[in-house]
Amino acid sequence: MIIPTYDDVLDASERIKGHVNKTPVLTSRTLNDRLEAEVYFKGENYQRVGAFKFRGAMNAVSKLSDKERKKGVIAFSSGNHAQAIALSAKLFNVPATIIMPEDAPALKVAATAGYGAHIIKYNRYTEDREHIGRQLAAKHGYVLIPPYDHPDVIAGQGTSAKELFEEVGELDALFVPLGGGGLLSGSALAARSLSPGCKVFGVEPEAGNDGQQSFKSGSIVHIDTPSTIADGAQTQHLGEYTYAVIRENVDDILTVSDEELVECMHFLAERMKLVVEPTACLGFAGALLKKRELVGKKVGIILSGGNVDMKRYATLILGTENCLKN
Ligand SMILES: *Cc1c(COP(=O)(O)O)cnc(C)c1O
Repeated sequence: MIIPTYDDVLDASERIKGHVNKTPVLTSRTLNDRLEAEVYFKGENYQRVGAFKFRGAMNAVSKLSDKERKKGVIAFSSGNHAQAIALSAKLFNVPATIIMPEDAPALKVAATAGYGAHIIKYNRYTEDREHIGRQLAAKHGYVLIPPYDHPDVIAGQGTSAKELFEEVGELDALFVPLGGGGLLSGSALAARSLSPGCKVFGVEPEAGNDGQQSFKSGSIVHIDTPSTIADGAQTQHLGEYTYAVIRENVDDILTVSDEELVECMHFLAERMKLVVEPTACLGFAGALLKKRELVGKKVGIILSGGNVDMKRYATLILGTENCLKN
C-alpha cells in the first residue's frame, strides 16, 4: 500500500486543470466581526456537479488506460461521487455504472442518470454496496472507483485545499467535513506542505462518529449506517488509505449535531446567499465549536457541496434559527 503524498496532489492539480472549476473563496464581515477571526470559506458548492467530488473522480478517470476506458467504470455512492464519476466518465467517453441507495436524494439520482450513467439501486440498511460493486466489477471487467479510499481520489480532493492556501496564504486552522475521509486526507496533505503550522480538523455528524473513534482508538472502527441529515457523511468507516493519512496529518476530529448543521445552513443562506447541503456545513459547525480558540486567528472552512433538493432544504430550514442567533 503506497500512501499518497502532497506530490500526488500536485500531479492531480496539473491533470485536472481546465476540467475542474477553481472555486471561489467567500467571506462574511458579519461572521468575522462576531467570531473576531478571519474566516475563509472554500465554495465547493460551485464545483462542477455541485461538490468537490468531481476533483477526485476526474483525477481517477483521467488516469485510466485506454483498455480500462473501453471496459468502463463502476462506483457506489449515496450521491455526489455518483454524479462526479458519471460526468467524468462522460467527458472521456467511458461507460459508467453507479450503485446508489434506494433512498438517495431524488435530485442526485436524476442528475446521475442525466450524465448517461447506468444506475443500479440497493438497500443501504441491509445490503453491502462494496460487495455488490466488487462482484459487478469482477464479472464485467469494470474498474471500480471508490468514493474515498483510493490514492487518486484522495489526491484529487486535496486540490481544493491547495487552491485555498494558494489564494489566502497560510492559515491557523482548517475545518473539513468528514465522511470516509477522502476530502480530509487530501486537505491535510495540502495543509502539511503549504501551511505547516495549520491545525487540521475533521468534522463528522455526531450520530456517525466512527472517524473520531478510530482517531482516538488507533484502529479503524466500523459502525452501522448512521441516521443523520448529512447524507454525504453516512459512511460506516474510514478507508485504509484515508485512515493512514488522517492518523499522521490531522490534529483532531470533532462532531456536531444535525441541528447545528441546519443552523449553519440557515446562516449561509441568509447572510452569504449560499445554498449548501447539510453535509457541507460540517466544517462550519465544527469551527463554531472552537470559536473561543479561534479569536484573532485565520481560519479556513471547506463548504463541500450544494446538492440539496429544494423542498428538503426548505423543510430543514423552516423553524430553525441561524447559527449566530446569540
Ligand atoms: C462525500 C462528501 C463529503 C465527505 O467526503 P469524504 O471524502 O467521504 O470524507 C462531504 N461533503 C459532501 C458534500 C460530500 O459529497
